[in-house]
Amino acid sequence: MKSNESLGNECHSDDMLTAPDRKVVVLDSDENLEHITHILKEFGLVAVPYTESFPPETAIVALINPEKDPHLEICKSLSTGCKVLLTTGERAFEFKIKAVHMGASGLLSLPVNAVEVLSNLEDTRKSEMPDARVLIIDDDELTASVYALALEECGLRVAVIDDPLRAEATIEDFRPDLVIMDIDMPQANGIDVAQAIRLDPAHTSLPILFLSSIYQKDIQDLARKIGGDDFIKKPVDVGYLVKMVRMRAVRAVELRQIIVRDGLTGLLNHVAFKERLTGELNRSKRTMSTFTVALIDLDHFKTVNDTYGHQIGDTVIQSFATLLKNSFRNIDIIARYGGEEFAIILVDATPEQSEKIIDRIRSAFERIEFNASGRKFNVTFSCGLAGSEDNTSEEGLLTEADIALYQAKSYGRNCVRKQCRATGDGLTTTAP
Ligand code: GH3
Ligand code: MG
Ligand code: MG
Repeated sequence: MKSNESLGNECHSDDMLTAPDRKVVVLDSDENLEHITHILKEFGLVAVPYTESFPPETAIVALINPEKDPHLEICKSLSTGCKVLLTTGERAFEFKIKAVHMGASGLLSLPVNAVEVLSNLEDTRKSEMPDARVLIIDDDELTASVYALALEECGLRVAVIDDPLRAEATIEDFRPDLVIMDIDMPQANGIDVAQAIRLDPAHTSLPILFLSSIYQKDIQDLARKIGGDDFIKKPVDVGYLVKMVRMRAVRAVELRQIIVRDGLTGLLNHVAFKERLTGELNRSKRTMSTFTVALIDLDHFKTVNDTYGHQIGDTVIQSFATLLKNSFRNIDIIARYGGEEFAIILVDATPEQSEKIIDRIRSAFERIEFNASGRKFNVTFSCGLAGSEDNTSEEGLLTEADIALYQAKSYGRNCVRKQCRATGDGLTTTAP
């Protein structure tokens, strides 16, 4: 398989292992700006004071106080490049209509509360180009590579195989959202290949787009009948192909998201995490790279529920998920592993590097103040780490991370433990 996936093991410096700065542009009084800067910092977000020359597309959100922008003109101009939230106590319906008209997408009460800002930032990862994968199966390598290049240019991940007999194995490995299949190939006919792929119940709904220079209506009809989503005649106008593929791939990704995401947090669910872990393990063996699995469990969470109620507990889980989304790079894999348990794969990172990153998140999280009808409280987490270099199976990695997590809990919670073969007890700890 030829693939231009850029997940090589070249990035190893600590700077490259953390998420890039996410900016929030703020137009407010000095006092409010200071407060907002403080609460956002806890979540790894950087507040930047608004200036006329600020490019809105470099911010993930703008917080505008209408007292500083009474006609909402700044709101309107910023809304062309990023999401704008108005920080105000104003709730008159007439005001809401004006706000929406001027491009605002939400209202935040004053004083600005971290959890409220975060619930509005929840989808910063989702709004980035969906990670859609396309597999091209075509014996004509040159044509395939032209299509591949054009599709990659619009942000899709593409793999190409010229031998249809490798279709099934490649689909399992690459997990495409869509297949582009040539019909006329020497090893096998594309229609037979599509039917064979669909014999596996896991692939019955995989969209297949047939390409062929054979212009026969009965072949086209047959291709459609067996479940090919569409049929395009070769030579294909590349612009048209890109448009067709992009639309279908985005739809397929959206459907996949519903199946693999957890409803409360939008993170990957348990089953999806395990699938991704298998993929990462295979990839790390192929590329001789290292990754780390982190299992995180919120401390004494039963007490949080018992004291403040289940709904407040849910808000804590959502805020924590947002903190995780904002703290890791897009290539890292973050999942809600169970109720108040989370699992992360830190790609191309050793347990030592991961320990530093997660310990920074740990110390940011313990400082976040939650508020339940005026009662303020903090929550902490414990974390266990295991590195792929010492483990050759998913179960081995998860068991080892789980043992380290258990050790973190017994050590007193609110700490990160990693397996370390050099020490006597086989574990080291980073504690507050
Ligand atoms: P430990 O520090 O040992 O992890 O203590 P704990 O109380 O967090 O652990 P325990 O496993 O006893 O309790 C987990 C709690 O998490 C109990 C359960 O009700 C709560 N929980 C699990 N899922 C959710 C959820 O989706 N929402 C809320 N609010 N609570 C949840
Ligand atoms: Mg638990
Ligand atoms: Mg717990």
